[in-house]
Amino acid sequence: MTSAQDCVFCRILSGDLPCIPLFEDDLTKAFMDINPVARGHALVIPREHAATILTVSVPALQAVAVTVQRIARAIDRALQPAGLSIVQANGPGAAQTVGHFHMHVLPRTASDDLRLNWHLTPGSLRDIEDAARRIRAAVTPP
Ligand code: AMP
Ligand code: ZN
Repeated sequence: MTSAQDCVFCRILSGDLPCIPLFEDDLTKAFMDINPVARGHALVIPREHAATILTVSVPALQAVAVTVQRIARAIDRALQPAGLSIVQANGPGAAQTVGHFHMHVLPRTASDDLRLNWHLTPGSLRDIEDAARRIRAAVTPP
């Protein structure tokens, strides 16, 4: 599994790589997925580098869950999706592509027929930024 040194999400956390941010607190960060399967597709990660649910610490896991709820509520208010799925993959056998524990917050449409394994297709930056502005405006403070 990826070490913290060459982990893309650790590089986002350190500011070494850019992201489209939504929210951050002491233990977590939320930002937009750059290959969105839906408008408003967001990711929530712990600051701690742990590969999967098997190794992430309990405090980090709890903090991620709270941020997931905050982001889900913001997406619901900002984009009014038909529904929201929370998806979390562990290991290559589950199609995990980034080895830093994360939860997907996925706005759904009734007919999107979303599969658990999806292909990574880059989204339009302008559209991702626009969705992010709306979601950020709907995020409640901690
Ligand atoms: P998973 O397949 O569950 O490991 O999901 C990893 C997700 O991270 C994918 O949906 C990617 O599109 C997303 N991703 C990878 N690199 C970046 C990045 N630099 N910024 C935002 N999202 C990313
Ligand atoms: Zn990492």
